[in-house]
Amino acid sequence: MANNSNDTQVSFPKRVVITGGMPYGNKHLHFGHVGGMFVEADFFARFYRDRIGEENVIFVSGTDCYGSPIMEGYRGRKEAGYTGSIEDYVEENHRSQAQTLKDYGISLDLFSGSGLEPAKPFHAKLSREVIERLYQRGYLMKCSTKQFYDTKAHQFLNGRQVVGRCPVKGCKSEKAYADECDLGHQFDPEELITPVSQLTGTTPELRPVENWYFNLPAFADDLKKLVDKWDSDPQIRPLVTKTVRESLEPPRIYIQEHYQETFDAIKDKLPPFKYFAPEGNQKSFSIVFNSWQERDDARTILEDADVRFRTGKTLLPFRLTGNISWGVPAPDLEDLKGLTLWCWPESLWAPISFTQTLLATAATGRYSSTDWHDWWCSKDTKVFQFMGQDNINFYCVTQPALWEALDWGLIQDTPIADYHILFMNKKASSSGKIKPPMAEDLLNHYTAEQLRTHWLSLALDQKAVSFSPKPYDTSVSHTDKKTGEQILTKDDPRVADPVLKESAFLTNIFNRLARSCFYGATRALDNHLPSVDPEPEVVKRCNKVTEDFEKACYHFNSTKALTIAEDFCREANKRWTKESKTAKEDPKGYEQALSNAFRALRTVTLLMHPVVPKGCEAIAEHLNIPTEVFFSWRHAEEGLPELVQYTGENAEQHEITPLPPRFDFFERHESQR
Ligand SMILES: [Zn+2]
Repeated sequence: MANNSNDTQVSFPKRVVITGGMPYGNKHLHFGHVGGMFVEADFFARFYRDRIGEENVIFVSGTDCYGSPIMEGYRGRKEAGYTGSIEDYVEENHRSQAQTLKDYGISLDLFSGSGLEPAKPFHAKLSREVIERLYQRGYLMKCSTKQFYDTKAHQFLNGRQVVGRCPVKGCKSEKAYADECDLGHQFDPEELITPVSQLTGTTPELRPVENWYFNLPAFADDLKKLVDKWDSDPQIRPLVTKTVRESLEPPRIYIQEHYQETFDAIKDKLPPFKYFAPEGNQKSFSIVFNSWQERDDARTILEDADVRFRTGKTLLPFRLTGNISWGVPAPDLEDLKGLTLWCWPESLWAPISFTQTLLATAATGRYSSTDWHDWWCSKDTKVFQFMGQDNINFYCVTQPALWEALDWGLIQDTPIADYHILFMNKKASSSGKIKPPMAEDLLNHYTAEQLRTHWLSLALDQKAVSFSPKPYDTSVSHTDKKTGEQILTKDDPRVADPVLKESAFLTNIFNRLARSCFYGATRALDNHLPSVDPEPEVVKRCNKVTEDFEKACYHFNSTKALTIAEDFCREANKRWTKESKTAKEDPKGYEQALSNAFRALRTVTLLMHPVVPKGCEAIAEHLNIPTEVFFSWRHAEEGLPELVQYTGENAEQHEITPLPPRFDFFERHESQR
């Protein structure tokens, strides 16, 4: 194994926690949740279970249960006659999400919810502890902002409870909410055009509110050190470090050149700043302040002087509390009472709550430690956090600072961020114009293993990639010459489905190797394993490929890992075809060819296990070798006769289960037959 060799870069931790974000509790899962995140996280969870032992791996996630979109979603359902409670509404969505994840073979140790049993009490307790701890350590600050208030309903309005038009010039969004539009522009509530309360249809007024904020700017130096460290960490993708660096810029304001004169007239009133003239094609100059507070003061002065400007990214205080009724209660501190936690921050520590929940409810001996600190606060552990690129600021800036502030010894996560998975070459979102297909619906056209293999081959770590399933492709393929009728791609039998490219490998290459071995052993060896050893060069090649695969996994390159396994399998098939043909009339030679092929099959099946677990486990079962022996990397470099011996059986007497004719371990979907 590589960690015994000179390659010091590849060494695996004793324990691993894997998290895959939290799907929001107002909807079922669309394909992006599964294809853009969960399948990849699952691949690595399965790889690590095989590699370091399943008692040392925890893979947790859960439904994000709180916040205004859920309240609004529930209100909409209720108006349409729904009679359940808001908990029922979230629970129903959660159940659908859990079923979908199960149908895709996502092997979560726990999929609970921040507001659902059994995690709810753990999460409420931890949330309280986090806020109290931050307060004690002096990292909470009280900030006052304006919030919409419905004078008819006598309550403050949050997020989606207010709808208006986006103030950003030229924005084409259909809806804007209290502080953001559905295209993602963010603004202050004061700026929202024609706000309307969704509760009463009245125009809400703005009232000042006080909330607790986390002093994120206090951690600028820690974050700089962390991102420098990440630069030289081969497990961290450049997408992460680049995005984090952007948020660590000093507080800057951009002003268009034609305001120069107005600016010059008032610049003496501003807090101290550095001036940067426009460079190259830039049409704006910029000014940089020592702190975000001074920049805020400058904003007010510029606004009063009617100078238009734009602010650059920088670290700002991070809001922790709000007054939304559907939220985790925040502890009462000073004069701020009865607040709830804003749902973004509590989702940062939810994976810890889920770990606590899992360890408290698991069967005795299932995990190597039942103390959550051993999983989150130990040098022996790693936390791998999978995320889409939109969440990098949140998980890679706010979270590391929060962990520092808590001083509980929490280790910094290893973030694994992916680019967007597009749909038909466009960015799709359930609130946008292009609706992504629901993950569950795709299973009407493909098997889960086909989709898993396809998504893992997309290399989302490199760039945004399109998912373009043929049954959903309504573009015009061509015009029929005879009838003049337009034929859509989805109905054109001449167009191959790009999603099935990798399935061809499963059925035509991998399955062929497996079948050759099984049918060969049935025909020539009466269902026994070959009694001759595989040739040394075959064994050497198997071990080299295993090592390469392991290295690719260490670097979180699932696409490369898959390619390594595929190429090797093709190579093994070629070898078998050649050797079995040559040895047609030579039983000894034929048995040698079979021995070589079985050794290759053993390796491919081990490597492909995290990709297509069902098919690989079926192969191990037909070989009559227990899966816990077959897939443990302790035996990664051992062949089938050695594996058989771990079961206490004699390899010469061991029998395999013969396959029926034309058997496929990776059966196609019924719609493809
Ligand atoms: Zn907008």
